Amino acid sequence: MQQIPPLWLSPESHLARSAPDHPILYFSPRVLHEVARRFRSGFPGLVTYAVKANPHPAVLSNLVAAGITAFDVASPAEMEAVRAASPDAVMHYNNPMRSEAEIAAGIEHGVASWSVDELSELEKLDAVPRSCELAVRFALPVAGAAYDFGSKFGAAPEEAVELLKQVAAKGWTPALCFHPGTQCEDEAAWVEYIHAAKKIVDEAGVQIARLNVGGGFAANRDGEAPDLEKVFAAIEKAADKAFGADRPILICEPGRAMVSESFTLAARIKGMRKDGEVVFLNDGIYGGLVDIRDMGLPGRVEVVSSDGKHRAGDRQPRVVFGPTCDSLDRLPDGLPLPCDAATGDYVLFPGLGAYSSAMSTQFNGYGLSDVATVIELAGQPAS
Ligand SMILES: *Cc1c(COP(=O)(O)O)cnc(C)c1O
Repeated sequence: MQQIPPLWLSPESHLARSAPDHPILYFSPRVLHEVARRFRSGFPGLVTYAVKANPHPAVLSNLVAAGITAFDVASPAEMEAVRAASPDAVMHYNNPMRSEAEIAAGIEHGVASWSVDELSELEKLDAVPRSCELAVRFALPVAGAAYDFGSKFGAAPEEAVELLKQVAAKGWTPALCFHPGTQCEDEAAWVEYIHAAKKIVDEAGVQIARLNVGGGFAANRDGEAPDLEKVFAAIEKAADKAFGADRPILICEPGRAMVSESFTLAARIKGMRKDGEVVFLNDGIYGGLVDIRDMGLPGRVEVVSSDGKHRAGDRQPRVVFGPTCDSLDRLPDGLPLPCDAATGDYVLFPGLGAYSSAMSTQFNGYGLSDVATVIELAGQPAS
């Protein structure tokens, strides 16, 4: 018989019972299903999932169960992970820089859509079947996201015009794609990109079947849930305004916003210095907290004692180090922790489903690998 791991009521109930001495991610499939439903009912087009945000088999199989049929993959290993979750999943290979061996793997895996942002890379794709879609990735100097993806990938609009013509001339189904940058909190970025896409289409004189508006949808960082529906509405309105009756099918590929809320990370306080001003956790920037180094401190943290009760003392800004012997292993200063937090307690970081376990290393013998499944993620005291 297949082993089915137990379902816990909440992180607090698991911590009180198991007292794990390693960092752990609590996964609520129910929350993931709710977010997937929100994207599928609100986004005016095809919702795909960017696997790199969290490729855990339980994430992929639950997204399949929630009705997600297409996945953005960037490597052969991600293709295999998607195939393991769903034999008929559609794959979009949107890492535009590929080796010959990676291209062969994409063909082998039956990738349906490929992005391209440079002529020399287009030439490498000659063996890709002409039944596939080729999406020209373009980039604008747009502000609004937490960091800029355009500096790595994406053709300038005038190059995109040329590429789009070549894609059509060579017999593939032409499309356009972009990514406004991760944790993009201003829907104006998508609006600007959609209007630029229309200009590229007009200048190339090539109709596009689909326009992929990327990921970048914001996750909840400070306790206030982002208004995804407002972003969806702005995208739909811009596409209608720019393309009118010729509006291409829209695609989105959220990573962060799809998966972040369905995981809470628990890291244990190993010890403290200077009367609790300095706190050492058993996870840090080489483990599941790497995204906090890049994105800044989250506004929501809780401290739970080993009996599962929440610490309620006044919050004090703390210096927080991770477990490795590297002095860079330190969170941005000022994490607000209750003053009664003690060694052996757990710090709960909600909203850490994206870019956490996916990026964790085993440096110094630490790292994040354990996942437990829970019904509820937020504020359920142990009973
Ligand atoms: C990383 C990535 C995504 C997901 O971005 P998020 O900011 O996590 O939503 C989507 N598409 C592509 C091509 C990516 O590289």
